[in-house]
Amino acid sequence: MEGLIKHAADLLERSNKIVAFTGAGVSTESGIPDFRSPGGIWEKYEPVYYQDFLDDEDARRRYWSRSRATYPVLRDALPNPTHSALFELERMGKLDCIITQNIDRLHHRAGNLPEKIIEIHGNSAFAVCLNCRKIYPREEIQKLLEENDEIKVPHCAECKGFLKDATISFGQPMPEKETSEARRRAEGCDLMFTLGSSLVVYPAAYMPRYAHQAGARLIIINKTATPLDHLASVVIHAKTGEVLQQIVKEVKMRQIR
Ligand code: NAD
Repeated sequence: MEGLIKHAADLLERSNKIVAFTGAGVSTESGIPDFRSPGGIWEKYEPVYYQDFLDDEDARRRYWSRSRATYPVLRDALPNPTHSALFELERMGKLDCIITQNIDRLHHRAGNLPEKIIEIHGNSAFAVCLNCRKIYPREEIQKLLEENDEIKVPHCAECKGFLKDATISFGQPMPEKETSEARRRAEGCDLMFTLGSSLVVYPAAYMPRYAHQAGARLIIINKTATPLDHLASVVIHAKTGEVLQQIVKEVKMRQIR
């Protein structure tokens, strides 16, 4: 492990335009379960596909039942050592941006500038009307949902369209601006950290491929193996919180020696 940390620190030291690509695994240490690990969200709730949400009142009810239960966990979570290490990278002037699949806003809460964060799967701080696109603070909707035990599907106050979290569900089109900007930044970086992502969710998982094809080095840190491990210069199967801080610390120590 020590050798891998040193190798990763060498690459970090030589790089000035770093992109961090983050997945649900960076937030498990903040108490937010990921989707696929044992005890993850899929064990408790079945995913609601976007088309089913549009077509079926029962699917909308299941969607909002899950959202009502999971939103407070996202809202109340605090950043962990992985988020702090990424903030440190920004302070060192090395971070081009964070491309995140996460919807939990923990990179914002850790202090990274909003313009450094590209949320390709949206975020949980807002709900949106699927008809007129009016945006609602998610907290406002939570108050409505918690008024009684029965699950009510919230509707837009303006046009009565269906409200949905401002996040991307399976089968829902990706946000065009964020997706193309993420691709541009992936192709322009000199080093990409892939952190806490199973790299099986597409099109998000194209990002490390784009970076690699354009000549960037990849460092993959994930508890379990990923399908892109063979492309990476360094692969570490461990918790991101423990490892990323050590890599950043190693580089800072070298700078003051
Ligand atoms: P995923 O659930 O498919 O994979 C998470 C990966 O992280 C797994 O391979 C797991 O082994 C690894 N992992 C878990 N804890 C870790 C840790 N402490 N250190 C290192 N690795 C760890 O998640 P994904 O690849 O990000 O994609 C699934 C989708 O889940 C995304 O679209 C995202 O929008 C959504 N999601 C987001 C959150 C969140 O915002 N925190 C939570 C759950 C799911």
